[in-house]
Amino acid sequence: MNLENHPIGVCSWSLKTSGPAELISAVQSLGLQHVQLALGPLIDSAERERAAAMELIRSSGIQLTAGMIGFVGENYSSLETIRRTGGIVPDALWDDRRARAIAAGELAARMGIVAVSFHLGFIPARSSPAYATLKFRAADISAAYQSLGVSLLMETGQESAAALLDFLHDVAAANLAVNFDPANVILYGAGDPIAALRTLGKHVRHVHFKDAIASDQPGVTWGRETRFGDGEVNASAFLQTLDEIGYAGPLVIECEFEKTHAAALASVRAGIETIRRICGNQ
Ligand code: MG
Repeated sequence: MNLENHPIGVCSWSLKTSGPAELISAVQSLGLQHVQLALGPLIDSAERERAAAMELIRSSGIQLTAGMIGFVGENYSSLETIRRTGGIVPDALWDDRRARAIAAGELAARMGIVAVSFHLGFIPARSSPAYATLKFRAADISAAYQSLGVSLLMETGQESAAALLDFLHDVAAANLAVNFDPANVILYGAGDPIAALRTLGKHVRHVHFKDAIASDQPGVTWGRETRFGDGEVNASAFLQTLDEIGYAGPLVIECEFEKTHAAALASVRAGIETIRRICGNQ
């Protein structure tokens, strides 16, 4: 396997820290140097606080693999609520969410971060007028990011890989790509994550190492997240397939189900061990 030289990283929001100082020390305690950074807390800070946090992160030497944003009003309590409220799909919220997405792109550019990921929302059927609207919105933000030198990464999982591939082809923006999250494919009941990874292939520019067990009503109720390696993703097949598609990016662990910093640290550490056991990363 050719993944042993790919850095292992962690999503900042997974570690449930109180701020950048605790984040940096948690990342260092895990023996890691790569982080995908939630940009929302920085965007929402006053400039003085933001500049201090940015300097703390910069001087730590931690490499930022990508940024991430969510949106106020997204409701993940059920598949139905997130279908209605997620991403840049809701018409009434488009202006606000566009502004926040652009702010994230601008902050990323300022910090030297090359890509920002978020859930664009559920992709409507290709024949629906709402599809053309979402396509326009994705192209609009991609164009704004292009001028900043930033890529837009779509978080995967709500739709089939074939539908996502159609959408990527239809938007046809060079800087629009995929953050592939195999657990989401299971949580949303959207198919087999390994097959989805193969389908998306070269469009995958960033990855979340997250795992899950499918719901007994896939696509109706949520599946259940687990530590990476304990769910139905098939960690070995996932890494093997990343290798086969020529994935060139970092291996970034995401863990959303733990409630405390200590529990999250333990789960992330277990994920690191799973990756190292399979492909020998340092
Ligand atoms: Mg994810």
